[in-house]
Amino acid sequence: MAVSKKQQVLMGLLWVVIFPLVSYISYSSFLINKINWTNLILLFALLLIMMLLPIKFRNVSVSFERWITFTIFFQYGLFVEFVFIQAAMFFLLFAEKSSLPINHKFFVNSIIFSITSFVSAYIFYASGGTIDALKFKETIMYALLYAVIYTIVNNLLLKIYFALNKRTYSLYSKEATWDYMLTLIMIPFSISHYFLDNHFGNQSLLLIGIPILIVLLTIRMYTNSNSLYDQLSSAAEIGHELADQLLFDEVIQTFLEKLKDVVPYHQAYIVDFRSERSLFPLMGYEHGKITKHVKEIVFLEEKTEDDGLNMEHIRIYTNKKEMQGLQTIQFSDEVETVLTAPIIRNKITEGFLIITSKNRNACSTSFIDMIEILTGYFAVSLEKARYFENKLRKSERCGLTKLHNYRYLDRKLDENVVSFHLQKMEELSLIILDIDYFKKINDQYGHESGNQILLKLANLLRTYQSEQDIIARYGGEEFVFILPNCSKREALKIAEKMRKEVAQTAFEIRPDLSSNTEVIKINITISLGVASIPNDALSAREIMRKADRALYIYAKQAGRNKVGVLENQRNYERTKTQTLPIV
Ligand code: GH3
Ligand code: MG
Ligand code: MG
Repeated sequence: MAVSKKQQVLMGLLWVVIFPLVSYISYSSFLINKINWTNLILLFALLLIMMLLPIKFRNVSVSFERWITFTIFFQYGLFVEFVFIQAAMFFLLFAEKSSLPINHKFFVNSIIFSITSFVSAYIFYASGGTIDALKFKETIMYALLYAVIYTIVNNLLLKIYFALNKRTYSLYSKEATWDYMLTLIMIPFSISHYFLDNHFGNQSLLLIGIPILIVLLTIRMYTNSNSLYDQLSSAAEIGHELADQLLFDEVIQTFLEKLKDVVPYHQAYIVDFRSERSLFPLMGYEHGKITKHVKEIVFLEEKTEDDGLNMEHIRIYTNKKEMQGLQTIQFSDEVETVLTAPIIRNKITEGFLIITSKNRNACSTSFIDMIEILTGYFAVSLEKARYFENKLRKSERCGLTKLHNYRYLDRKLDENVVSFHLQKMEELSLIILDIDYFKKINDQYGHESGNQILLKLANLLRTYQSEQDIIARYGGEEFVFILPNCSKREALKIAEKMRKEVAQTAFEIRPDLSSNTEVIKINITISLGVASIPNDALSAREIMRKADRALYIYAKQAGRNKVGVLENQRNYERTKTQTLPIV
């Protein structure tokens, strides 16, 4: 979460108003009980330990320290509780990892706790609660009231803070529910400790504080092994999702996005190393978006063997000096932590995953196993996608002429027609051509010879293809050109040139029917049909139909070896609405 300078200043100003005000009122207006310093220091130490040991339950971090602050309040009143929690919070600022600037975090937490402490204490006193009371029923009643108000105010303030940052925090979320439940669970301990302390002083910690700590440590051991289980199952889930992706880019994108749920990072990159010499970023996640044009990292062209990038193991770099050891990679100034992981397949390093974070110590070593598993899944899925894309490429080509086939043509024609309707091009022409009397050639010289002619004709037609044009073998001895941004007039000229060249070309074949296998030369002719968008049609289906009609009526029926075109066509209006014609 990024915070603007303006927000930071605003929080600072708010703190300057709220903190002294709450300090002053709580000091001057409410009773402060006599302080037992040893008791306070012991409880403070216990609070810090508990805050540093949060337990993760299904990704929600819960801490059990609230019973201590409640006890403090019941024993000493608002002012001591207020100072106590602010001091604890101050210490913890330096222990937690966060991308927020530390002063901003302090202001926010301090404001939230100040208001929470104040409001809940105020309601407690106002409704008749007194600190240091010893009547069983009353103490429980007011303690409960205090605890409930405390929790509600705390969560409401969180909600407001989230809303200010345009994020949502639900009062019914898992986090909030845990908070309510913990309060209810912890309140009997607070009250018990409070009563016991009254009778036995500091020794009462042996009966409540220390046992709670032991229970916590035990639960922590259990949940830590549980979280390994959680990690493994989410790794398996990501593995499945990767396996579902068929295209190379999709696999990389899914990997980067899913990885973020497991390893919190700011930027991540997939770097190709298949050439085994240079590092080339294939895709990256920067500023919350997937991009192929990465900006926040620079890879020097040639990778050297001793450039510091480990080819076999995951490495974490936690300071600038260590990062400078990665000689072929340059990071932006704000990067504080880097993780590099080789992507290995069949024992060969084919690339790298590089993760960066603006937080110090963002990547703990506990991520290493997880990343190793995930990069393994990733490498396998990439390989599968590569194989699939290869197959797809092959399936869209004709085996004989190696030109694209009908399937590819169909897809590309649709795409071009859509481009026309999106005003990305002004016109689009199509030429369809068919060999004249080809059946006779097959009958006379054999099918194999026919194939030789098809191949030679395909090569001749290729010479007419400019960069943006598409040429495909449409069917048996029919070929199609898609000419984007080409007028009908221009297309007619090209068609006529083709017709002439084919008619003048001697196609050399080796007949396979007769015993005479000497090379002979054959002349063929072709008939062509031309149609254009928007002159003859507006949709893919229509332009094909019109070009076909032009071919059969105005070229074949008109005697063959001709270019046919439908006359008197009107210019169609391009669709102005967003809905595109059915192509
Ligand atoms: P026209 O087009 O001028 O009307 O006469 P045509 O003889 O070419 O007639 P048509 O287009 O109907 O026939 C196409 C023939 O092309 C039929 C088939 O023998 C031949 N043909 C189609 N595909 C192939 C192929 O892959 N290899 C070979 N050798 N011949 C093919
Ligand atoms: Mg023919
Ligand atoms: Mg034909």
